[in-house]
Amino acid sequence: MKQIHNYINGALTPPLSGNYMDGYDPASGEVYSQVPDSDASDVEAAVEAAEAAFAEWAATSIDERSRIMMRIADLIEENLDDLAKAESLDNGKPIWLAKRVDIPRASSNMRFFAQAITQFSTQAHEMTNAINYTLRQPLGVVGTISPWNLPLYLFTWKIAPAIAAGNCVVAKPSEVTPMSAFLLSEICMAAGLPKGVLNIVHGDGLKVGAELTKHPKVKAISFTGSTRVGAEIAKVAAPVFKKVSLEMGGKNPNIIFADCDYNKMLKTTMRSSFANQGQICLCGSRIYVEETIYEKFKADFVERTKALKVGHPADETSRMGAIVSKPHYEKILSCIEFAKEEGGKILTGGEAIFPKGYEKGYYIAPTIIEGLPNNCRTNQEEIFGPVVTIMPFKTEEEALELANGTNYGLSSTVWTENLSRANRFAKNLHAGIVWVNTWLLRDLRTPFGGVKSSGVGREGGFEALRFFTEPKNVCIQF
Ligand code: NAD
Repeated sequence: MKQIHNYINGALTPPLSGNYMDGYDPASGEVYSQVPDSDASDVEAAVEAAEAAFAEWAATSIDERSRIMMRIADLIEENLDDLAKAESLDNGKPIWLAKRVDIPRASSNMRFFAQAITQFSTQAHEMTNAINYTLRQPLGVVGTISPWNLPLYLFTWKIAPAIAAGNCVVAKPSEVTPMSAFLLSEICMAAGLPKGVLNIVHGDGLKVGAELTKHPKVKAISFTGSTRVGAEIAKVAAPVFKKVSLEMGGKNPNIIFADCDYNKMLKTTMRSSFANQGQICLCGSRIYVEETIYEKFKADFVERTKALKVGHPADETSRMGAIVSKPHYEKILSCIEFAKEEGGKILTGGEAIFPKGYEKGYYIAPTIIEGLPNNCRTNQEEIFGPVVTIMPFKTEEEALELANGTNYGLSSTVWTENLSRANRFAKNLHAGIVWVNTWLLRDLRTPFGGVKSSGVGREGGFEALRFFTEPKNVCIQF
């Protein structure tokens, strides 16, 4: 049984209560790890360690901070295989995917912000008899709370800008997938990150996440997760004016026009629908197809989806692995049942799968549903699994109205070779991110986040460094 520890004040420490929770391997349904069931006392110890480390870390030169972060990035790369295996075991995603996407992106996050901080600058505003200049100072102790779908990828996406900007961090990974964050603590120790700069407290959302959010010494919370929990965090943070960045759920549209590059669209739509078992906040779960190609698309999409191999994450031939946890697996299956009750027709999938030898794992066949109106629950609520709906549309106006017709607004994808139409959609879609003729193509300098119930604030590039710093204007009269 693997035992996970908290990382507090530069050391691996057991939870003060001595309590642990079971960690599951979703591919087999077996318990394989013990995860600290930390509570307010561990959060307190982590905040104290971060507070004690802050003055020195904030005064550490940018070059030195950057150098240590580069070393962390190097060590993530050197440990690629072990990290990918750990991520896959914890999360159920295919190992090849963790190797190709999750872990390389975690080291890129570190490397990117290690470089970005060397380019971060402030403005000066000249008056006839005075000069204003702006300082951007680190906030102090900040909290990060992240989800299970891209564990190390999203964990480092928050930690990297925070520490680059001179803050000290108390980070809470998802209790469902804590293993790669635990391995990162060992990497940080090996890289020479001073004690207390990063503290990792494992455990339940209510016991650790909520305690972190309400802690008076924690100046900001950077959260990625569900809209429900984001709303809880906003409620706690608002009365004490705590800075928050909230990256939340999505119900992203994928709008396909007849004039698109059909083969490229089909190949990418397979990924945007089912990559990571559909558990990426950016996956396109509502697929709108121009009526003239609807039947052709439907036939091709169903045929390709039927051929997608769902299997054990360690099997190189598996295109999809296991769903992250039993509760989430049951939730997705119940959403599929509900879609049927709403009148949806299952074109393929719609059921659990039991790969030989792993019958107790949590596998679901990639599922395509048609025949549902836009305003039904299946098309309005986030499922966050390998489930998409397809719907025909006649006109551009109709497609836009359907795409914008939810409370969410994270990302959207448009497939068309018509440049004017692409620009009209880019301008009029209610989303923080619009991809035209591509999906999940990311430049880490760009602003990342959503509108409506999908998000408050932006991550990425200098936006993240701005979030983790406080501007102060200095005005000097001559
Ligand atoms: P979740 O909201 O259940 O949990 C996210 C994190 O919050 C976990 O670490 C959890 O322990 C913690 N938490 C739970 N209750 C808390 C509370 N009351 N106070 C503070 N922290 C608390 O989300 P999840 O199920 O882990 O992840 C899936 C969700 O994340 C989906 O909705 C998905 O769309 C979203 N997501 C969004 C983005 C984005 O960039 N917008 C990226 C990835 C995932």
